[in-house]
Amino acid sequence: MSDQHAFETLAIHAGQEPDPLTGAVVPPIYQVSTYKQDGVGGLRGGYEYSRSANPTRTALEENLAALEGGVRGLAFASGLAAEDTLLRTLLAPGDHVVIPNDAYGGTFRLFAKVISRWGVEWSVADTSDPAAVRAALRPSTKVIWVETPSNPLLGISDIAALAEVAHSAGIRLVIDNTFASPYLQQPLALGADVVVHSTTKYMGGHSDVVGGALITADAALAEELAYHQNAMGAVAGPFDSWLTLRGIKTLAVRMDRHSANAERVAELLVSHPKVTQVYYPGLPEHPLHEVAAKQMKSFGGMVSFRVAGGQEQAVEICNRTEVFTLGESLGGVESLIEHPGLMTHASTAGSQLEVPADLVRLSVGIESVDDLLADLTQALG
Ligand SMILES: *Cc1c(COP(=O)(O)O)cnc(C)c1O
Repeated sequence: MSDQHAFETLAIHAGQEPDPLTGAVVPPIYQVSTYKQDGVGGLRGGYEYSRSANPTRTALEENLAALEGGVRGLAFASGLAAEDTLLRTLLAPGDHVVIPNDAYGGTFRLFAKVISRWGVEWSVADTSDPAAVRAALRPSTKVIWVETPSNPLLGISDIAALAEVAHSAGIRLVIDNTFASPYLQQPLALGADVVVHSTTKYMGGHSDVVGGALITADAALAEELAYHQNAMGAVAGPFDSWLTLRGIKTLAVRMDRHSANAERVAELLVSHPKVTQVYYPGLPEHPLHEVAAKQMKSFGGMVSFRVAGGQEQAVEICNRTEVFTLGESLGGVESLIEHPGLMTHASTAGSQLEVPADLVRLSVGIESVDDLLADLTQALG
């Protein structure tokens, strides 16, 4: 499939030529660990053992590379497995990483509790301010890590400006593109070195699979990452790869609806008397709305807000919705609601990444927007 095709076409076809044996129009689930060799070392299509490569995973990996505009995609068992593989490829004891002051709690935990035990240092910066990131660099800094939009406060960071900061220091910029998906935002084209995904979220899109991905446009780095993917072994299995590919086929239409519904939800919340603040990059009052408008196609499905009545009221709202399901995760077709302080971001308590106690996070799904607005109105009381 030529890279000249549009995103919607690549999503459905890249990496997914009809099966040469049967003509099956989607890649079969190659539920297999090992492959017959035609004489020692006589591999058919390069397959010898499914940790190293599996045809269903290859289809997903080629698709991911095409969608993010990279030379190579790699699929992992989870987003955190992808992050761990990336960090242990790029970093050695004594190296330093700049991390954002707003990030997925599990990413923060990986830095603070796991990677730090191997002598990797980290410090926190406001990545929405390129000057603050530049000021946080040390001689030992190897990586700037950024989430945009960020989880759960929907902060925006200027990818092109941060690529400039990173490259003028001779270091790498990593973008966690989970909230936007490649349909809304293409970090590699803006100068990022590596894109990270929790494919569990919008890429899979149906709350039925956990997975992660790395994509890069740097061929030498791609080789190193692929080596570590095999050496460390946290690969995506064939069925998980197949489910993720199945989800990706509808990514463009889903994201259009997620964004449209979330814009309406944000408007409702802005004018509600019990809501004190709304975090959504599509709102003109978002401090980096202009940057978001420049680097994103639309603003995505995630909305967070704070309420006047503190934690008690925030929890009460989470307990009262009927269409929005109370649960962690995000990016599925169904709407979800959660309390980050007590749920997804509990691991940030007491740190610089601690989230407000009166914060509620919504993953706005693709149900009827009227049903979603009515549900929030009744839950807010
Ligand atoms: C969920 C998430 C992750 C971690 O991915 P898993 O698939 O849960 O391991 C990383 N980054 C962001 C922004 C996430 O939302």
